[in-house]
Amino acid sequence: MDSCHANDFFAMDNTQAIVVKHTGSHYLLTVLPQWNLFPAVLRGRIRQKGSTSTNPVAVGDKVDFSLPEGRNLTDMLPDTENPAVIDGVIPRRNYVIRRSANLSRQSHIIAANIDMAFIIVTIDFPEVKLPFLDRILVTCEIYGIPATVVLNKTDLYGPEHRERVEAFHDIYRGAGYPVLDVSAATGAGVAELREACRDRVCLFSGVSGVGKSSLIKALDPSLEPRTGEISQSHLQGKHTTTFYEMYRLASGGYIIDTPGIRGFGLVDVGKDEIALYFPEMLKVSGNCRFAPCTHTHEPGCAVKAAVEDGAISYERYSSYLGMLEEEQKYR
Ligand code: GDP
Ligand code: ZN
Repeated sequence: MDSCHANDFFAMDNTQAIVVKHTGSHYLLTVLPQWNLFPAVLRGRIRQKGSTSTNPVAVGDKVDFSLPEGRNLTDMLPDTENPAVIDGVIPRRNYVIRRSANLSRQSHIIAANIDMAFIIVTIDFPEVKLPFLDRILVTCEIYGIPATVVLNKTDLYGPEHRERVEAFHDIYRGAGYPVLDVSAATGAGVAELREACRDRVCLFSGVSGVGKSSLIKALDPSLEPRTGEISQSHLQGKHTTTFYEMYRLASGGYIIDTPGIRGFGLVDVGKDEIALYFPEMLKVSGNCRFAPCTHTHEPGCAVKAAVEDGAISYERYSSYLGMLEEEQKYR
């Protein structure tokens, strides 16, 4: 785990910086471990070869930069008029994208160089949709980003929720994901979440209203994350403006908030591959009689056997079937 800690990646001299924010053609950079935000623009057109993304530089990117003539880093403030220039992007360890618009071939990089994704959900406020959560978890597996599920608003769960909360724990812990119970309102579990974020670049994802902004504030009261919904219409079309921003936690670690995003998009994945991204299925699929096995109709299927004896949850399996069906529909 140590090898993917932010500390290693963020070891940098004063010619490299991290992208903290991106709005239109302007970027905000900082050298780490300092937090000295200063503006920057791109030098000409930086494009990654073969990339279909609309933004060549994303939040979390590590970039080479040069300062304006005669300036030092110590002269640079967030509102300095003369911006620095981004000369190039250091190859990404990973990134997450979403499609720019429906049916579009273009994609938009939400964030790069992430150590861990925190998927924030609530049992009921709003109600968690398991197939949707599973889709995000599959996406994390595809990108090679470890994921932690955060169950927020535990203060609102009464005895009538107990069974569903326990079932939720069983499903996701059983699949191999850590599940943290927290409440931004009471602070319960927040210290644990803070520990999980320490020295990492963390992506916070979840549908609007689950409490992403409230949790960031609970983790570090000095932060002022945007609250409330951001219209999706801002996030479509050619001239996409992004609102993603990286925050530094006083306790250590960085959070990239993704407001207004209904989770990040699924990349193309063949139907034969989907089961590889359900860790609990991958673990037993070597024992299937046939290879490849779609784990649907084949005799001697170890995955189906595991579902039947309860080792794999029925909910996760039916998410898998749903994704399989959708892949077939669009191919
Ligand atoms: P975001 O859209 O994910 O950033 O969600 P917000 O942080 O804006 O929170 C949405 C609403 O849920 C706000 O009214 C918050 O006050 C409320 N909220 C957030 N966390 C909690 C919690 O742990 N308990 C309770 N009761 N309400 C919460
Ligand atoms: Zn099988």
